[in-house]
Amino acid sequence: MNFLTEEQQLWKDTVERWVDQEIGREYIRKCDVERRFPFEAYEKAAQLGWHRLIIPEADGGDGADIFAYALMCEGLAKYGFDFSAAITGSTFTAMNLVLHGTPEQKKQYLEPFMRGEIRIPISISEPNAGSDAANTQTRAERVGDEYVVNGQKLWCSGAANKDAVILMLVRTEKTDDKRKGLSVFIIPNTTPGLDIRPLSTLARRSITTTEIFLDNVRIPAAQMLGKPGDGWKIIGGEHLQLERIAIAAGYVGNAQGAVTDALRYAHQRVQFGQPIFEFQVLRHMLADMQTQVDAARLLTYRAAEMASQGLPCRKEVAMAKLFASETLQTVSRNGMQIMGGHGMLPDGDMERYFREGMQATVGGGTSQIQRTMISQEMRLR
Ligand SMILES: Cc1cc2nc3c(=O)[nH]c(=O)nc-3n(C[C@H](O)[C@H](O)[C@H](O)COP(=O)(O)OP(=O)(O)OC[C@H]3O[C@@H](n4cnc5c(N)ncnc54)[C@H](O)[C@@H]3O)c2cc1C
Repeated sequence: MNFLTEEQQLWKDTVERWVDQEIGREYIRKCDVERRFPFEAYEKAAQLGWHRLIIPEADGGDGADIFAYALMCEGLAKYGFDFSAAITGSTFTAMNLVLHGTPEQKKQYLEPFMRGEIRIPISISEPNAGSDAANTQTRAERVGDEYVVNGQKLWCSGAANKDAVILMLVRTEKTDDKRKGLSVFIIPNTTPGLDIRPLSTLARRSITTTEIFLDNVRIPAAQMLGKPGDGWKIIGGEHLQLERIAIAAGYVGNAQGAVTDALRYAHQRVQFGQPIFEFQVLRHMLADMQTQVDAARLLTYRAAEMASQGLPCRKEVAMAKLFASETLQTVSRNGMQIMGGHGMLPDGDMERYFREGMQATVGGGTSQIQRTMISQEMRLR
């Protein structure tokens, strides 16, 4: 019993089969080792239209629900979260264009995205605005028909890759409430004045995370998404909710991959004349690992289903993100132990899952912040 309808199960199986037959774990591993974006895979997925799965039909997409998107994120992550995020990450950012874009902005950016020609990284974080994301200090000043932007963004995944158009949160006004006075701009990564530098992070090596320096970057005022001061409303609400569902589903897929790999290894590896699976201490570890993954999956499906139905689900999304990320971290660490020395090698894949697990509890809002959000929703009213 896995709570999926026949159609949903078929969709998830289709995605997983595609990863096995059209992509393969060796390709995903190679992109990580070479710190290279999986362009070929993105193109194949885009030819199938998977990147526009949840874009409404009125905007030229497939109009599928968030649950179907979560199943895709899960299926694509079976050999690594980073790969799934590379294929699906632009989609949750593109939804901001759907929800807030003008007809001209949709024509200029959403349409090429749907044709598979551009990707859309999100740039919220800064050196002094991590968990405190609204403490944005990169500032944009209006000069005639343009804004002039100066400052520094940090950790923008995918910004240095070709054909990237960044959605960036910047300050357009100084206000007492730091959440006010923020705006979002649409900024192609080739815009003069941008200096985008890849960072050698532990995880996300394929997408590649960057720091961005902005020196008098001139942006036409027409490239502001929404109105001046709408920035936090756009990013802090629906954007982060959809992002967290997508990444929670990716963590579940990657965590399942880690358990499957560890289980297979435990059956194959012989020590003291028997498969190491026969040692009860390891069998029980594997039992705990699968139980945790199943629990993370159910929390994620609940959040995705509530979001699909348009129900308020701030707490449920935070629970899914929290538990799925910590599950990936735990099961990949245990997977490393079960695989012994072999787990340390790139071709064992487990060290890559373990690195993604370490990133999982930080990116998209740390575990501490998810717990804070959950407990905020638990106050007696
Ligand atoms: C590989 C990678 C990729 C990323 N990709 C992107 C991206 O594409 N776009 C983007 O905008 N950002 C991205 N990020 C940034 C990510 O969202 C931030 O790293 C994250 O929000 C935490 O911010 P920080 O690293 O500044 O940590 P800090 O906020 O400095 O936190 C440090 C520690 O303090 C704790 N802490 C902070 N505040 C509180 C509090 N109020 N209560 C309790 N504990 C607290 C944190 O939980 C953490 O343990 C990425 C980060 C990484 C590492």
